[in-house]
Amino acid sequence: MEQTLEGTIIYGDDFEPINGRLTIEDGIIRDIEERKNVPETIIAPCFVNAHTHIGDSILKDPPYLPLEELVQPPNGLKHRVLRETPYNDLVASMKATIDDMVRTGTCAFADFREGGLEGVLALREALGSSDIDARIFGRPVDGKMDYLDHCDGTGISSTNDLESSLVKEIEGKTREKGKKFVIHAGEKDASDILPAIELEPDFLVHLTHAGKKELRAVADAGIPVIVCVRSNFITNSGIPPVQKMLDEGILVAAGTDNVMFNSPSMFPEMEFLAKTNLRDDRQVFKFCTLNGAQILGIDSVLGSIKKGKTAKLMVLNRNSGNLYGTKNPLGSLVRRARPDDIVKIT
Ligand SMILES: [Zn+2]
Repeated sequence: MEQTLEGTIIYGDDFEPINGRLTIEDGIIRDIEERKNVPETIIAPCFVNAHTHIGDSILKDPPYLPLEELVQPPNGLKHRVLRETPYNDLVASMKATIDDMVRTGTCAFADFREGGLEGVLALREALGSSDIDARIFGRPVDGKMDYLDHCDGTGISSTNDLESSLVKEIEGKTREKGKKFVIHAGEKDASDILPAIELEPDFLVHLTHAGKKELRAVADAGIPVIVCVRSNFITNSGIPPVQKMLDEGILVAAGTDNVMFNSPSMFPEMEFLAKTNLRDDRQVFKFCTLNGAQILGIDSVLGSIKKGKTAKLMVLNRNSGNLYGTKNPLGSLVRRARPDDIVKIT
C-alpha cells in the first residue's frame, strides 16, 4: 500500500528541515522529494526512548524521598510496591504506559525490568501486539537468570548495590548467552563509575556525577551513555555533564527513566534537556531519536527519515496554537512541541 505525506520534513541524520513529499510503501520510506508549497505540517522521525523502567507504572507520583529510599533494591519503595502489586494490575499499568508511549510518538524503547523471569514475561504480555520496538533488560531474582532466554540482556542498578564478585558472575552469565550487559552508574556519586567501566557494559545509564577522569575512561572504552535529565532533577541527583560527554566524543542518548518519576513522553524530556543542559536543538533531537537507535542497534531502520528506513513518523500541526508562526521547525519541535500538536503517527 502506498501513501504520501507532505510538509516540512526533518530530514536525514542531520535533521535538516526541508519542504517536500515522502512516499511510503509497505511501511518503508521509498522516496523523498523537495517541493514548494507544502501543507503547514512538520514531519519528524518517531522517538527512541533509550531508558525506562515501566514496571513501576503502578506507582504514580511517589512522595519526595531521597533516591535510595525510592529505588534502591531490595527494599526501596518501588521494590516494595512491585512485590505487593497483583500480576494483572502490574500488566495493566505497563500496558497503559506502552499505549501512552505510542500515542506520544515513541517507536522504540529500552526497559530495565525488575522481577526476574516473571517480570520480563509480564512486560511481554503488556506489549502484546503493540506497535513499538521494545528492548528488555531483565535482572536476576534469587540468583536465577532464566529471564535471559526471553529478553535482550541484563540491566542492573549499580555496582554499589551488589557484591563485586556477584556482579562479575551476572555479567559473565549474560555474555555466555550472547546477550547485552548494561548498568546504571554515577547517579548518586562517582564511586561506581570506574567499577562499571571495568565490566565493559554495552552502555551506561546516567553518569550524572562523572568527572573528567571518568568521562575520559568511558570515551576510551567506547561505551555509549544514556542520560535521564528529568529523572536526575526529581531525585535531586544533579545535572549530567552532557556537553563534556560530547566533547570527549561519547555517543549519548536520552531516556525518561522510571515511570513513577516522569511521564514516558519524550517531548518534555527534549524540552528539559534543551533548556537545562544542552542549548543545541539538533543534538537534543538526535539524543532522542538516532543516537538511541544506534545504541540499541536499530538505526538501520529507525531514528531518522531516510530512503529505505521504516516509516515510523509523526506529523505535527504547524498551525496549532502552540506552533503557529514558527520559523524554526526543529527548534519548535525540541523546545515547545507537545503530544497534542501531533495530527498523525505512521
Ligand atoms: Zn534507570
